[in-house]
Amino acid sequence: MPGTNLTRDEAATRAALLDVTSYTIDLDLTTGEKTFASTTTLEFSCREPGATTFADLVGATVHEITLNGESIDPTTAYADSRITLEGLQAENTLVVRADCTYSHTGEGLHRFVDPVDGRVYLYSQFEVPDARRVFTTFEQPDLKSVFTFRVVAPEDWKIVSNAPSPAPQPLGEGKALFAFEPTERMSTYITALIAGEYHEVQDTYEGKHGTIPLGHYCRQSLVEYLERDRAEIVALTRQGFEFFEELFDFPYPFGKYDQLYVPEYNMGAMENAGAVTLRDEYLPRSRQPRSFYEFRAAVILHEMAHMWFGDLVTMKWWDDLWLNESFAEWACYHAEVEATEYTDAWTGFANARKQTGYRQDQMPSTHPIAADNHDLHAVEVNFDMITYAKGASVLKQLVAWVGIEDFIAGIRQYFKDFAFGNSEFTDLLAALEKASGRELTSWAQEWLQTAGVNTLAPEFSLAADGTYERLAVRQTAHPDWPTLRRHRIGIGCYSWNAERTSLVRTRYVETDVEGELTEIAELVGETQPDLLLLNDADLTYAKIRLDERSRATAIEGLSRLDDSLARALVWGATWDMTRDAEMPATDYVELVLANIGQETDAWGVSRIPATAATAATLYSAPEHRDALRTRWEQGLRELALAAEAGSDQQLTFVRAYAGAARSEEALTWVAGLLDGTETLEGLAVDQDLRWSLITSLAAAGRAGSRIEDELGTDTTISGQEHAAAARAAQPDAEAKHEAWRLAVLDSSTPNETARSITLAFPRAGQEELLAPYVEEYLSAAETVWESLGTHRASVVLDYIFPVTLASDALVTRVREWLDTSEAPAPAKRFVQENLADVERALAAQACDAAR
Ligand SMILES: [Zn+2]
Repeated sequence: MPGTNLTRDEAATRAALLDVTSYTIDLDLTTGEKTFASTTTLEFSCREPGATTFADLVGATVHEITLNGESIDPTTAYADSRITLEGLQAENTLVVRADCTYSHTGEGLHRFVDPVDGRVYLYSQFEVPDARRVFTTFEQPDLKSVFTFRVVAPEDWKIVSNAPSPAPQPLGEGKALFAFEPTERMSTYITALIAGEYHEVQDTYEGKHGTIPLGHYCRQSLVEYLERDRAEIVALTRQGFEFFEELFDFPYPFGKYDQLYVPEYNMGAMENAGAVTLRDEYLPRSRQPRSFYEFRAAVILHEMAHMWFGDLVTMKWWDDLWLNESFAEWACYHAEVEATEYTDAWTGFANARKQTGYRQDQMPSTHPIAADNHDLHAVEVNFDMITYAKGASVLKQLVAWVGIEDFIAGIRQYFKDFAFGNSEFTDLLAALEKASGRELTSWAQEWLQTAGVNTLAPEFSLAADGTYERLAVRQTAHPDWPTLRRHRIGIGCYSWNAERTSLVRTRYVETDVEGELTEIAELVGETQPDLLLLNDADLTYAKIRLDERSRATAIEGLSRLDDSLARALVWGATWDMTRDAEMPATDYVELVLANIGQETDAWGVSRIPATAATAATLYSAPEHRDALRTRWEQGLRELALAAEAGSDQQLTFVRAYAGAARSEEALTWVAGLLDGTETLEGLAVDQDLRWSLITSLAAAGRAGSRIEDELGTDTTISGQEHAAAARAAQPDAEAKHEAWRLAVLDSSTPNETARSITLAFPRAGQEELLAPYVEEYLSAAETVWESLGTHRASVVLDYIFPVTLASDALVTRVREWLDTSEAPAPAKRFVQENLADVERALAAQACDAAR
């Protein structure tokens, strides 16, 4: 029983047998609110006439199948999400007439009705294997074809796909036919259909290869936000095209470029060829800090990079999904730095994105970047922040290893060689080896085919005059993932200036580290600096340690280190040491309180208070926790009051203070901000901040009727999601019960609403109320993979577990469950990861207790 699975071997067999000439896809979107009509005409050739194969179609009611003019009985041929095709000829025509189902999980063809105005919006999301939820496919990336979409829809709808949108042909009764031209050759997973009462604006990019029409789309209720941001996102899009057409030395391959901001979207965005979908929270209605816009720019450029890497040249099978994502990640940060105003984007990457890779890589579930994805289930398990963040970090190291010029020469050749086709990682490696003259197979082996992160620590002795008698870098690895790697790293020496107002870099060397111990002869005789920073410039992917003196310097004056990337490395090192139970949580919280007020990197400001909150609530020793949480709350109040009026710091510290609020003083202040009896110069208490404040009060049991009152004025989907989160945060058994039902048990809850509830559910300080949900969670882990679908199940299993209940008894119970449960592998993986978080918390608590 394959179910919805597909193995790599099955795909390879089918690719060896078939060439897909064309798809014609007739969709009727006027047949009802639950389903739509889908007729697919597939023309394909077969290399072995007489052979048998299958087409893919999921969750459909099939009315009619004909193969080469002969009718096939759907009741026997369509089973288990596949249509069996027997007796193939050299040239074949398959016609499948079916009804397919709209989705509310963000997978397949998602249907959304805006609660503000009742307008209808549809969009497709097909990666990894979900085009087969909308039409009949050969669902694998290496069976590329051309696609002709013909869509019947209300005549006043906007219909967008990979090819330019055609004029509607009226059919009467308010309906029209939208008949698209055939697309370029592409894989099924990057085809797209976006339909509904969308608002559209058009601009152009005039480049060296001609004009590219640039469309932007959003819901009618978001028009004012699109118009507000339009100049900025159009400018960014133009900067991206100019940069990538030059960098890749290949004209944009898909004619027009539409970007569609869509509701209830699961991820950041999707690189459908010429029709990129993005989550419409990226058109925010309320004030957001700069890190938000820096990330939006990264997303826009990430998807654009995919037009070449992914869409023009596509992986043969999902084994190379990592490469697809890692490359787009590397390229988007590179483009931000080189072509946009976000010139320190690599600092933001180090402060935020890269941290998610380190975290994932230290889980028991970690895997090589190049995972062995032998089937679609394995893809589900292995599609994570190792795919994105670690992969991009390692490509950054590869660029340092071969040099940027050779790296670019290699990829330019690769695009020319494989345009509109498929390739494997070895093809890219060969292109890079040829361009650089360096042997890379062994590099790929140690970096891509093994899991885990190395730790680099300084080891030294000092002469009587305070100079290094000896300095070495010691490399270690986790015993379960023992690979030591070759690293190209920078080493920076920083010391106080005479006035002690600034930590200044006095020396920088770049060197290769290899094996357990690498002597750094260049720095022997150098005076020991106040701060010795390994991996300065962040070339490699490794955890770094600070020696004792450097750590003390950091706590005293990290904010006076001028270089933002060097600061990001110190922030990262101290956070790693805290998580690894080598630095007490109390010290980390003090470090943050003393230095975050002067941090200038947008991502540093946004993310580091969140890590300190985790340190205070989860990594602190139980006997220190109450005092530390109070210290954290009061420190945030001071930071919020001291921050410059209207600054990002002010907004971030107010949000964090509200999140930490437990004391009467803090809760009264939060309520006062909401009611207007308290004000802070430069701080607009806008709609999203209002919801943050209400959620904080709700978590303390002080919301009163505020949630329902606020819903009276904010009738948007965003308002409904915030309200659901605020309800879930309440310290009330009834509220928890209802939140659990909506997020975990009710499969009809829309994906984004379920996500909001999930994130708000486990609150520090509510341990007694959360205790019953350990067993509820373990029992849900047995079933949700089937009942909620991949995306909703992943979110709920990842985030709803009450980690703050960390105790030895909890460890024992979860281990016992893992030993006996027969839950699906991807579900078990999340349980394992939560267990790892619990164990990490216990070790960190012990470290803090010993302080
Ligand atoms: Zn991507």
